[in-house]
Amino acid sequence: MIQKGNFLLLDIVEFRPWLQKQKITRSIDRLQVHHTASPNYTTRQLLNGFAKQDIWKCLEGMRTYHLSQGWSGTGQNITVTESGQIAISLDRDLNKTPAGIAGSNTGAICIEIIGNFDKGGDTMTDNQKQSVIHLYACLAEKLNLSINTDTVVYHAWYASKTGTRLSDFIPGKSSKTCPGTAFWGDGNTVAAAKKNFLPQIKTELGRLRNQIPDATPITNTKPKDDEPMTEAEKLKISDLEKTIEQQSVWIAAEKVKANMECPSWAKAAYEANKDFISDTKGSYDFWRLLTINYRKENGIKVSK
Ligand SMILES: [Zn+2]
Repeated sequence: MIQKGNFLLLDIVEFRPWLQKQKITRSIDRLQVHHTASPNYTTRQLLNGFAKQDIWKCLEGMRTYHLSQGWSGTGQNITVTESGQIAISLDRDLNKTPAGIAGSNTGAICIEIIGNFDKGGDTMTDNQKQSVIHLYACLAEKLNLSINTDTVVYHAWYASKTGTRLSDFIPGKSSKTCPGTAFWGDGNTVAAAKKNFLPQIKTELGRLRNQIPDATPITNTKPKDDEPMTEAEKLKISDLEKTIEQQSVWIAAEKVKANMECPSWAKAAYEANKDFISDTKGSYDFWRLLTINYRKENGIKVSK
């Protein structure tokens, strides 16, 4: 979980525990479904599922654009990145009414999925798919919503400006194609939503409800590699570094002892035996034994 600028960025496994701690103070009965159209996988410079463009730049870019439209902050409450990370808009927290569908924002949460999912556009990455399903299921769990086309709503099912709910996506009447004419592979119609998208959220919600409260989704096991270390962890690392340093000194000393030039206390023994020794180097033990034997042969006793 990283907070920077106007956003809080969470890995998929962090979202549910985070959400469970949030206090919702307004009444919410709808979860909007949007695609960003732009930014999309091209502007994100996606290669093999990884974006070259900095995520913070992308998020702040959307906010700057929304502010330039005279909005009070980032339009959406939540953004799902192409890598499956979840960004919370700090200037549009869950208790603030979003600017997602003109005329139909009260009582709604606006979720923007990065990408252009119109026909001929982007093909959603598996990580993003898993996050999207998990996210809607977590929100439904938290807000106690059942999953249907009145609670999970596509932008395309609303008329422009008035925000009147239409019976379906109706070209010419619908405000936009959002979340895309090829969204979830099926499109943006009510029938398309009922085909795969809503059933997948229902399945995930069922899975969550049968789990221990802080269980993490099995769909994405991305390691938490960008969390800052705690003070206890920093201390452990520092201790570990000291140990390694001490061991390095010890190993270096051992290496010297394993192959040393004749020490001064072994000089006499060396001189007496040098015709039988091929090498001027030896281990500490070698020089010691050579000296003991030399003293023994010559009756030299050491005072203790
Ligand atoms: Zn939209």
